[in-house]
Amino acid sequence: MPVKVAEEWLNACSGCEISILNTGEALLDLLPHLDFVHIPVLIDHKYFGQTGDKTVMEIPEAVVGIVSGGVRNEEHKHVAEEMRQKVKILIALGSCAAYGGIPAQANMWKNDEVFDKVFRHCASTEPSPNPEHPNVPKWTNSCQALDEVVKVDITIPGCPPHPDWIADAIGALLAGKTAWALPERSVCDTCPVIREKKSGGGPIKRAFTNIDFDPEQGLDKMRCINEQGFLCLGPVTLAGCAGKEGVPRCVQARTPCRGCFGPIRKGARPMVDMMGALTSVGLDPKTVVDRRAIMNRYIGGHGFLAPLPARPAR
Ligand code: SF4
Ligand code: SF4
Ligand code: SF4
Repeated sequence: MPVKVAEEWLNACSGCEISILNTGEALLDLLPHLDFVHIPVLIDHKYFGQTGDKTVMEIPEAVVGIVSGGVRNEEHKHVAEEMRQKVKILIALGSCAAYGGIPAQANMWKNDEVFDKVFRHCASTEPSPNPEHPNVPKWTNSCQALDEVVKVDITIPGCPPHPDWIADAIGALLAGKTAWALPERSVCDTCPVIREKKSGGGPIKRAFTNIDFDPEQGLDKMRCINEQGFLCLGPVTLAGCAGKEGVPRCVQARTPCRGCFGPIRKGARPMVDMMGALTSVGLDPKTVVDRRAIMNRYIGGHGFLAPLPARPAR
């Protein structure tokens, strides 16, 4: 009998759902074994009955629950809790669900400051009051990863996660396993570039300048991007973005890793480790522009990004 699956998106952009569809031929093999009972991106299903006549949120029961996006408002929290109650195994899909993702950059400011910036001090919009209406869900205090709100059983990171790992994780569940995780390797571990463990020193260059490479040559003839003096987050980022193929996607495109797969292991301190990695090749980590935001770009949940205490006036 097919395994029932419920899918939800919270503070998400739908890229994770596109990745599910991009699973391609592997998805065709899996589909006969899956019964999607709830997936708002594809199937219209109202939380409170098709005519809005119910007073209690209704998400059907399922064996596997997949949730993309972090928790940014009270509605996301409600849906996350409802999903947790209705499914046996809950998967956090993508780096927004796993770590807060890009939207958690807003955790560097208090909510009032974000609203003020967006609704009153944004060059592209007319100043207006905050949107307040009973039907507009209230923001939570910060943008949280899913596991800060409910228990998560499996995490498939990435922005977006690679379709290979979606198929792999679902295949493992269909085979009767209850756990799945990517191996704890760094992006550097899968990167074929030349490394000499030293750079030319000096301030970190911004990625507005092209890195040095010969388009006629393979990556094994290109010098490590960090060692060329740019910030590449490969040393502190979990490998897997290229799926089973292996070679990191941004480096394939001759651009630095920005850290979208998140930390290599739970409890890691990527910013501290990255500053150490830069120092070890002779670069000054203090010259990274906006380094708190840049080194925590996808992982601002779990308290990695929070408003700084106000500095005393001079
Ligand atoms: S992880 Fe990336 S692709 Fe997925 S919802 Fe977040 S921003 Fe979109
Ligand atoms: S720092 Fe970047 S370019 Fe250098 S080995 Fe690691 S992933 Fe590759
Ligand atoms: S190289 Fe880094 S930023 Fe680029 S896709 Fe891979 S993990 Fe994400």
